[in-house]
Formats: sequence, structure tokens, C-alpha cells
Amino acid sequence: MRNDSVVRPPIILYHKIDKPGRGVLVRGGFTPPARFAKQMSCLKKQGFVFYSASELIDYYRENGSFPHNGITLTLDDGWQDNYINAFPVLKDLGIKATIFLVASCIGETSKKAMAPGETERAHLSRAEILEMARHGIEFGSHSVNHKWLHDLPPDEARFEVEESKKQLENLLQQSCKVFAYPAGYYSPTVAELVQNAGYMAAFTTTYGPTGSPDPYALNRIEVLRRDRFLYQFKRKVQPLKTT
Ligand SMILES: [Zn+2]
Repeated sequence: MRNDSVVRPPIILYHKIDKPGRGVLVRGGFTPPARFAKQMSCLKKQGFVFYSASELIDYYRENGSFPHNGITLTLDDGWQDNYINAFPVLKDLGIKATIFLVASCIGETSKKAMAPGETERAHLSRAEILEMARHGIEFGSHSVNHKWLHDLPPDEARFEVEESKKQLENLLQQSCKVFAYPAGYYSPTVAELVQNAGYMAAFTTTYGPTGSPDPYALNRIEVLRRDRFLYQFKRKVQPLKTT
């Protein structure tokens, strides 16, 4: 990804498609279901064409440029609300997405991917994941335990990167091609581990007007609870210039 003039399609990031419960302290990662539906149909109306994360990278590798009007929708952590509240909308509108799963949380109710101080929350079950996969939803790895990888000894980081890939490939019976760093944290060592494990790309939570040209440090645009109005959403979801 070296061409200076390349404009990269927006890669957008959501976490929970739900209303936050009463006791929830960190509410930014919640997008209410009705708002999510509006945002998705807004993108369709604008003429965006949805590519899964690996399709977007494949397209670039084959063509040397990104697709005109392309967009990629990603969801981190694999919450069960993605199946209950997002999947019906995606099926309805024919939208592709990539969901990054925490391998040890599949079928579990867990705190591992929650902010400190929060209570546990339900993740997708194996059956839900397989059903979504049959409808064209891609599943990438978000590690085994959602630990901050830049902080771990290299062996432990390698385990998180490699073991999650193995477990997801076992479940889905297809190659797990993309990775998202837990909480977006990575280091050059971690990026190298991800590349050596055989992933084609990795995603951060960094957001900026320019996109990193490194396929193992791809920026995303996080849609937050405060992006309440469609005009804010539209202004935020714009193609990135690569540096
Ligand atoms: Zn996460």
C-alpha cells in the first residue's frame, strides 16, 4: 500500500449494538439497534458497496488500488447482541460484515472484553456464529483472551495470536484471515507475530484523517454512542487518505 495518492475506503468499527443497561459505566461502545439500522440504510443510500475485511485487502492486492465506493463494516468482541440486533439488519439490506471474535469467550458470558469495573456480558454462541457465516458474515480473530498484546511476553502474545486462529478455523472450517488487536494495542513485535501467523491484515482502533499504509496497522473509524445524528455519522464515515 505505497501509492501516496491512494484513498482508502472507510473501515468502520462498532462494538455493541444495544442500549446500555442501567449499571453500565462505559457507554460509548453501545449503538442502539434502531440507530444502527438507520446508519446502515444511510450507507446503502449513499451508494457504498460493502466488502468484508479480507475482501477489501484481496481487492487491493489484485488491483493495486481500493474499490471505488467501497466500505468495510467491522464489529469487535463478538457480542451476542450482534446476532440479535445487527444480523437481521445486515441480512435485510444485504450488507457484509466482519466480526472479530475472542476465541475463549465463544458461547460464554464474560468480562474479558469489558472495560474494568463492568459486569459480564453474553457473547455469540457457536451456533449463532455458524449461522451468520452461512449468510456471508466473515469472522476474524480478536485473540484468545482479549489481553493487551503489547504488554505480554512474546510467547504469550504469540499464543494469543496463533491459538485463536486455530480455534476459529476449527469452528468455521475455513481460513481465518484477519486480526483485530484487543483495545487496539500493538507493537512492531506484535504486528510481526500476526503477520508470521499467516493473517493477511490487522486492524487497530486508531482513527485519523489519514490511513496507515501498513496492512498490519490499519486504522478504523469507530462509531460511538455520541454519533447520534445522521449528519454526524455521514461526516465521520469518509474515505481516508493514505500517507
Ligand atoms: Zn475488543
